[in-house]
Parts: sequence; structure tokens; C-alpha cells
Amino acid sequence: MSDPRRQVPRTDTVLDDPRLAEVAQRLGREQVKTAVVGRLEQVRRQELAARDVVDAVLRDLPSAGTSLRPVVNATGVVVHTNLGRAPLSAAAVEAIVTAAGPTDVELDLTTGRRGPRGAAAVAALLAAVPDAEAAHVVNNGAAALGLVAGALGRGRKVVVARGELVEIGDGFRIPELLESFGAELREVGTTNRVRVEDYTKAVDDQVALVLKVHPSNFRVEGFTASVPVRELARLSVPVVADIGSGLLRPHPRLPDEPDASTSLRDGAALVTASGDKLLGGPQAGLVLGRADLVQQLRRHPMARALRVDKLTLAALEATLTGGTTPVARGLVSDRRELMVRARAIAEAVGGDAVESVGRVGGGGAPGVELASAAVTLPEELALPLRTGVDPVVGHVQGGRLLLDLLAVPPEDDARIVAAVRALRRE
Ligand SMILES: *Cc1c(COP(=O)(O)O)cnc(C)c1O
Repeated sequence: MSDPRRQVPRTDTVLDDPRLAEVAQRLGREQVKTAVVGRLEQVRRQELAARDVVDAVLRDLPSAGTSLRPVVNATGVVVHTNLGRAPLSAAAVEAIVTAAGPTDVELDLTTGRRGPRGAAAVAALLAAVPDAEAAHVVNNGAAALGLVAGALGRGRKVVVARGELVEIGDGFRIPELLESFGAELREVGTTNRVRVEDYTKAVDDQVALVLKVHPSNFRVEGFTASVPVRELARLSVPVVADIGSGLLRPHPRLPDEPDASTSLRDGAALVTASGDKLLGGPQAGLVLGRADLVQQLRRHPMARALRVDKLTLAALEATLTGGTTPVARGLVSDRRELMVRARAIAEAVGGDAVESVGRVGGGGAPGVELASAAVTLPEELALPLRTGVDPVVGHVQGGRLLLDLLAVPPEDDARIVAAVRALRRE
């Protein structure tokens, strides 16, 4: 009677479970069967209870051809790097689906001839930033900088302030990136201070450009000085402003965050930025500014290696022309509204609603605090909620699990309630 094998259900019996039968229609019976066999092996070894097999198999299986799992971002961080940065707007998601099949990304349907790739995305960028004469889209912000360094600065000097030699994250450093594309750096100033005379002295006929990098993920306070684009623009070489986050215009809640329009109006020859931070779009690198320089970048052999696919172009255009993005909504969230939602969730799952403080994230606006609201639950629920069928990622603070609503669209409140209730039932 104590033989554990007696408690192991048969593979076919498990496969008959309606939830697995439904998944098998999408993924094929073989894939589901393999997962079931694996989990039943664990039951045999008494590492898993028989009644948990179906849930475990559902967790093992990709929800849709991809093994990437959709999660609820209850971290209170609007642009969460480890959760894929900006969640796309409904318009952008629809655009990706539309562009997935054959599409006229490089064909002029009227003439039947080849057309300029990504023209609509570029046009949308230029409409959003009228101060730019031209624009080009590459794979990400680092690619935009790399292309600038390679096409304009290769074998020449790029002047940059020591206080702006930034590490972006995951060990990637902007100075090394620029050098790897063949530009030589000429550093000016000290860690905390640089003056316009430092730049003036550094600029000679070997210098291709002056690079101004926004130190987006840290703040220097105290005895500091940097030179704004407006003053750098008086130098005899082009100024490239790496603004980082991709704000196209000033944002009232982010007064210290540079934006593309202002940088260009202040005299930057080019602006580089990411598409999936504060712009709220797909991963992309944007280059905006002088037409002659953008043309040089576009014609450079490296441009082909850094070019974006049709899905990115479609999503970027829709981000710019469609409705508000989740990032934009997160940035202007109203604490009272979040509190009302937090109370409703807390009541449904038996937690407390509390005021909380959210962040912009994505390595941007490090000092900015966003008023938010959260549901608190026992800390022990953090892991099971993360690894549940519909994962909810919160954050632990002061011995409690906080499910912060700042980056949760209201329609996802029900997912949180369902996930917590599923745990309570177990
Ligand atoms: C994020 C960032 C980058 C890199 O952009 P990716 O899109 O991550 O490649 C470069 N410079 C600055 C200032 C940034 O904030």
C-alpha cells in the first residue's frame, strides 16, 4: 500500500484534463505529453503531489509558441529592465500583428518598385519632433551611439566629459562601446566638474564631434558643473546628445530628463535615444537631427548590420501615432485612483492597501519618486506568485510583499486577484 507508484496517475488520464487538452490543441499533443511524463516522474520520486501535476505542466509549457511568459508588473517600476522595459500600447501590439505577414515595408504599392524602408516610422518621428531635419532607426540606443561613433568618429577623436563616461548596465560602458566602433576618446574635465573652456581647448582638427551623454542612471550632487548643449553648440564641431530615455518633448513630472526637441533646439547636431524607455515603444535606437549627418549614418555599411525589422518599424510608428502608451499612463498615475483599486484588490484577497512610492526605472530619472499605491501580503507569497500559472512580480519591502499598482493597467487587477486566490486555495 505504501508503494508510491500506486499513486502515480496514468499519462493518458492526465492528458485528458480539459485544461491540458486545450493547450494540446495549440502546442501539439507531443509537447504536452513530454511535459506530463517529466512531471509524473517527479510524482514517482515523491517530489510532487499527484494533484499538482496539471498545474505544474501548465507552468512548464509555453503559453503561446514562445517560452516567454506574460507577467503582471507589480514592482512599482514603470519601465522595468528585467521585464522587457516598455510594455507596448494596444496600437503597437496590433501593428506588430498586422506587419507579421508579407507587408509593404520596402515596396511602393503604386509603382510596384522598391520603396524606402521604414519611411512611415521615420515620418512619424519627424512629425513628433519637428526640430529634426531627418531621422534614422536602428536596433537600440547602443547601436545608435555605435553608428555615430563608427560613421562619424572612426579614426578620429570624440570629445566627452569624464563625468559622462557612463556604464549603462549589465557591464556595458559607453566609452568602451565608442572605442569598439573605432572612435578615440578625448576626455575632458573631472568626475564632478567640466567647463566650456575644457571643451574649447580639446577641440582641434582631429576632433569629429563632441558627445554629451545624459548620466541617466545616477545623480551627482554637491560641487558639480557640466556644460549644457546650448553652450557646446557654439563649438566648431557637431554636438551629439545621447539623451538616453527617448522623451521627445519635455515631461512635466520629469523636469531633469532631457528631451529630443529641446536638445535639437539648443543646437545639438544629432540626438540619440532608446525607443523602449520613456517613449514607451519597441526596442529601438533613434537618431534625430541634421539631414547631412543622418544621411552619412544611413549610407554607412554598418547601418545594414544595425537595421531594425519590420515588426519594430510597425510598432514604433504605432507608438508615435496611436493612443497613449502604458509608460505614459504610468508616469501620470493618480495616487487616489490607485488607492481605490488597491483597496478593492485588498478586500478581495485579504491584504492591506497602503501608499507606496514607485520609480520610473529603465535606468532613467533616478531621483524621481512617483506617488503610488500597493496591496501588501505576507512575504512568503512572493515566490509562489512569481512562479504561478499567471506570474505576478511584486517586491519585498520591510518583511512584506508589496504588489504596486503604478505599472499595472486597471484591466489587470483581476489577474492579481485570481493569482492570489489560486494560492489561497492550495
Ligand atoms: C539606455 C541608455 C543607452 C543605451 O540604450 P539601449 O537602448 O539600452 O541600447 C545609452 N545611453 C544612455 C544615456 C542611456 O540611458
